[in-house]
Order: sequence, then structure tokens, then C-alpha cells
Amino acid sequence: MRIIFIGPPGAGKGTQAARIVERYGIPHISTGDMLRAAVKAGTELGNTAKRYMNEGKLVPDDVIIGLVRERIAQGDASEGFLLDGFPRTIPQAEALGMALRADDVELDAVLLLEVPDALIVERITGRRQDPETGEIYHIRFNPPPDDIADRVVQRDDDTVEAVKQRLEAYHRQTAPLVPFYQDRDLLIRVDGVGTPDEVTERIVEELEAL
Ligand code: AMP
Repeated sequence: MRIIFIGPPGAGKGTQAARIVERYGIPHISTGDMLRAAVKAGTELGNTAKRYMNEGKLVPDDVIIGLVRERIAQGDASEGFLLDGFPRTIPQAEALGMALRADDVELDAVLLLEVPDALIVERITGRRQDPETGEIYHIRFNPPPDDIADRVVQRDDDTVEAVKQRLEAYHRQTAPLVPFYQDRDLLIRVDGVGTPDEVTERIVEELEAL
């Protein structure tokens, strides 16, 4: 199965992707996670990406496209993958289409997780992650258990200012992917408002119907 998750920042893509890849046994390819790992490792890519990420801006297409091409060429992605956070622009979607056509494979679906802007800021600014397990929590909606409460961390770009910028980037640069994939009969809209379990159920229902 080859699927893509798109949606605004804070829509729950990362949380849901982790559950879906476990269920279907496919690799989770998150460009955000790959970039954060590069930033942490202090590589050249990480240093370039960091400036854009902290300002809530998209990293240039050529940087990201190269990264994803290399990743999907790895053996574990030959039977399927879940792309989370990529593509985020029309040129990225076109480059992905070309890479898949060259391998003679096709996408199965593009799931759009829909959450209204009004809910996004609260969702994102309350988000915390356990650096040891990668588990994502929310200080109000899904608080971390007491024994790990002092080790959870906030992402550098989960601030109010960066979130506003990220939402703007989403509407301007990523939202055009909705008609792009709709025209290709791949788009599936999923209501992202509800508990994580409710949203997982909606996603699984759509995937089972493919
Ligand atoms: P995410 O974890 O998906 O929210 O991504 C965090 C940040 O990484 C974004 O705000 C961008 O700065 C950068 N990023 C992740 N994926 C992409 C992409 N496909 N294109 C450009 N920038 C990206």
C-alpha cells in the first residue's frame, strides 16, 4: 500500500501515521522527522533546514525531493509506504509522481486530515513528545503519565508565532495539492476532529474500502 497523509500542521498526521504503519506493516516516512534528525545530528542538511523550520517556512523543494527520492529507493519501501508531511507543494507532488512512474508503481490514496484553523493553535502549542519513545501527548487532551511528565519536550517550531507561519504556508503552498490529487481520483477526506481513536477508525474504514 502506498499512501500519503496531508493536512494542516497539528491535524494529527504523525499520531495517526504511527498507528496506520503498525497496522499495515509499511514504513513511516516523515520528512519532518527526517529533518529533525538531521538538525539534531548537526549535518549540513540539518543546518540548512533548521533556519526554515524554526521560522515555520517550508524547506526548499530541491532539498526535500532529493531526501525523499533516496528514502523511497530503500528496500523496505519497495512494497509500500506511508508518506507523512510530503509532498507539501505541487513541484514535490510532480517529482514524486515522476519517481513512482519510473519504478512503474502507483499511489493508492491520499488522505486529507481536515481540522479547522481555529483548533490548530491550541492543538499545537499544547503538544509534547517523549524523546525516548517518540510518543506524542497533549498537555490538556492527552497528558503524559506522571513518570515521564518531566522528560517530554516541545518542538522548537511549536510556538504561537511559528504555528501562524506554518498555517499560512499550508494554505498557500500545500492546499493546492487537494485539487491536484482530486483530479487524479486519489483524494480521500477524513474528519480529523475527535479523539485519536475515532480518527483512526475513520482512516481504517477508508483504507479497508480501497
Ligand atoms: P512536520 O513535522 O511535518 O510538521 O514538519 C516540520 C517542518 O519541517 C515544516 O514546518 C518544514 O519547515 C519542514 N518540512 C517537513 N516536510 C517538508 C516538506 N515536504 N517540504 C518542505 N518543508 C518540509
